[in-house]
Amino acid sequence: MSKPILGILGGGQLGSMLAQAAKEISIETVIYCDEEDAPAKKFANHFIFGDYKDIKTIDKFINIVDLVTFEFENIPYDTLEYINKIKNVYPKPSINKILQNRFYEKNFVNKLGIKTTDYVLINKEQDVIENKVLLPSLLKTTTLGYDGKGQYKLNSIDELNNLKIDYSIEYVLEKFIDLKKEISVIITRYNNEEFQIYEPIENIHQKQILKKSKIPADIGDELKNKSKEWAKKIANELDYIGTMCVEYFVDKNNELYVNEIAPRVHNSGHLTINAFNISQFENHIRAVCELEKIKLKKQSNAYMINILGDEIIEYRNKKYNSNEFFFDYMKKEIKFKRKMGHLTVLRD
Ligand code: AMP
Repeated sequence: MSKPILGILGGGQLGSMLAQAAKEISIETVIYCDEEDAPAKKFANHFIFGDYKDIKTIDKFINIVDLVTFEFENIPYDTLEYINKIKNVYPKPSINKILQNRFYEKNFVNKLGIKTTDYVLINKEQDVIENKVLLPSLLKTTTLGYDGKGQYKLNSIDELNNLKIDYSIEYVLEKFIDLKKEISVIITRYNNEEFQIYEPIENIHQKQILKKSKIPADIGDELKNKSKEWAKKIANELDYIGTMCVEYFVDKNNELYVNEIAPRVHNSGHLTINAFNISQFENHIRAVCELEKIKLKKQSNAYMINILGDEIIEYRNKKYNSNEFFFDYMKKEIKFKRKMGHLTVLRD
């Protein structure tokens, strides 16, 4: 069978890295993005600019690809469903329906007997007041929030007066955890129900944005095994095809909680490009295109630093050693806190 042409929805840094990984294993890519000068344009074989809801342009995309994947989970569900009726979308769109919504996601995880922090759905201020036992908490929009966007820290009910919360949208109120650590597990599930699981990665956030990721994570074997087992259980239950990421909290008593699940390649897995023989991106491409699964081997321990906003200027002018790998996402505009690039450092 000849190799399929892979369509990728989204043309940011994740789309770029997916397209690069595809190229290395001779898979042709077509990127569809709603940004005309998207970073991934340079790496894809073909590029289509269009709105994610513009079915006419989406049709052109469908016509020239064999299957479709995506770089971020907030592509409109109706568009994914529409495409999936004509060409396979991996991971399948019904997964996004669950994971695009924090409330559905937490319900799903808890039903599997896997822990999340205590939470409740919020539609009005009275709901918060009635659930004040959960304070201190974070109030998070059920949809579209990431990197701390759409989140309010709530220590006491009195604070509600100062926070102008818009109750025309839904929230989850989520118990605030006294964090010891944050970790993530990147896992790729293949069509034949086989897995590639990377070792847990330790993540350090600054102002709710990922700043540093490293392997090995500084946690015991019990947590390492549990986090991998839970990721496997989640991927199996979702009948997932491709790479996904499960983000976890570890509290001061070494209790593990799922924070969220990203149905895509993930920022904390960027170090897999240099630290493993097969990156999370290549594994994703291999799984969705039904290519051979290659045994995963760690080449080195590593850490990765996210380069945010104007920090990129300094990094562009640095000289690097042979164990340091600088990635510039070549975004047109430098914006405050925007992910502009990353640096991976390999170490013993
Ligand atoms: P999120 O967008 O939900 O992944 O949140 C971004 C970051 O905020 C997390 O990686 C944590 O550092 C912090 N955070 C979110 N929820 C909680 C929580 N319930 N308790 C403590 N810290 C949290």
